[in-house]
Amino acid sequence: MTPDQTFVIVGASLAGAKAAETLRSEGFDGRVVLVGTEPDRPYERPPLSKDYLRGEAGRDKVYVHDEGFYAEHDIDLRTGRTAVSLDPAQREVALDDGERLRYDALLLTTGAEPRHLEIPGAELDGVLTLRTVENSDAIRERIDRGGSLVVIGAGWIGCEVAASARQRGLDVTVVAPEQIPLERVLGAEVGAVYRDVHADNGVRLLLGTGVEGFEGNGRVERVRTSDGRALDCDFVVVGVGVLPRTGLAAQAGIAIGDGIAADEYLRTDAPDVFAAGDVAAARHPRYGERIRVEHWANALNQGPAAARSMLGKGDPYDRLPYFFSDQFDLGMEYSGYARTWDRVVFRGDAGKREFIAFWMVGDRVVAAMNANVWDVTEQLQRLIRDRVAVDARRLADPDVSLETLT
Ligand SMILES: Cc1cc2nc3c(=O)[nH]c(=O)nc-3n(C[C@H](O)[C@H](O)[C@H](O)COP(=O)(O)OP(=O)(O)OC[C@H]3O[C@@H](n4cnc5c(N)ncnc54)[C@H](O)[C@@H]3O)c2cc1C
Repeated sequence: MTPDQTFVIVGASLAGAKAAETLRSEGFDGRVVLVGTEPDRPYERPPLSKDYLRGEAGRDKVYVHDEGFYAEHDIDLRTGRTAVSLDPAQREVALDDGERLRYDALLLTTGAEPRHLEIPGAELDGVLTLRTVENSDAIRERIDRGGSLVVIGAGWIGCEVAASARQRGLDVTVVAPEQIPLERVLGAEVGAVYRDVHADNGVRLLLGTGVEGFEGNGRVERVRTSDGRALDCDFVVVGVGVLPRTGLAAQAGIAIGDGIAADEYLRTDAPDVFAAGDVAAARHPRYGERIRVEHWANALNQGPAAARSMLGKGDPYDRLPYFFSDQFDLGMEYSGYARTWDRVVFRGDAGKREFIAFWMVGDRVVAAMNANVWDVTEQLQRLIRDRVAVDARRLADPDVSLETLT
């Protein structure tokens, strides 16, 4: 029994909410305080660039839990409250309303925030970013007005916003320095599939060029590219990546790398302080290094894993990274982690956008993506997890079942 203890979670989004849920389902009967800057109760972000942005799903669809969940589970949810300082020696977190919360264990799930472009005109009305439900509402309101959108960045957020706006009938241009969308994660061959999907659906791709600035009289009217073009537009969405929100931890003297540094139990170097989700750079037993994963499934699973560690019942967090994306009629799931690879093997027809791609190092699969092919994640993850040696011809052959390969 632990009724005298207080566990505080800073960051009331997916990782934080799932951690709070897990504390209760694991039998913790002390005090749980979940603190979040945003006015809403915890919600999921993937719909914000997809069906929610297009107006096809309502706000009730995005929440992690029903409205009554937190009270029913005696979780003290403080929305609209920001933790402004942390003192690990005193085991205390200070909130922006002056309250000081003493904790026995603390979980930091402060997530990530969009990078901003430091270029002329970046402050003009109509230059938008996307992270919160309010951001999504603001973009949707512009989409509802129609006209032309310039998206800066050809990563996941940029590509998904471009697809959603195009599906709503806008004139959409994507500007990005890389030659191929999503090239950094997927490489040129699979990135080319996305390039073609966007081009086929009428998105104008201006790749291999940067942005010099935004121009307009009070509001953005034009984008100047570094290759000398001037693109007229009604609004701009900047999707150039995110930065982990490490400020609170850094100010408290907690070790920071690419995110809050944590071990495989999601413990930071401060006593009884843990980190999970987009903000955590956690040692991964499989990869033997710290990795930070900016994806939904990581927040979903790491929050509960950190909660179990807070209770002293944790296991090393060794799940394979996994994420998904939907753009136009191309849905996909990606499993694994590949920073470098020797080659990509395709099973199925990339031209018809129904295929599995395997990223190979030697004769091992290090990552795999199923595109418009479903219910194969378990087999793909087994291939990767078990480091099975595979013959590339059999891998490419759709008549050879994935089960026999594993
Ligand atoms: C538009 C969009 C679409 C996405 N689509 C996909 C997708 O298709 N597939 C996929 O796998 N992933 C997707 N993601 C990524 C996924 O949503 C994130 O990985 C996930 O939200 C991370 O959750 P988190 O709880 O770690 O952090 P976050 O969701 O970033 O939440 C952190 C929370 O902490 C709060 N906070 C920060 N500092 C403080 C403080 N000092 N005090 C109090 N509160 C604080 C913040 O306000 C925020 O609410 C998408 C993300 C976005 C933005």
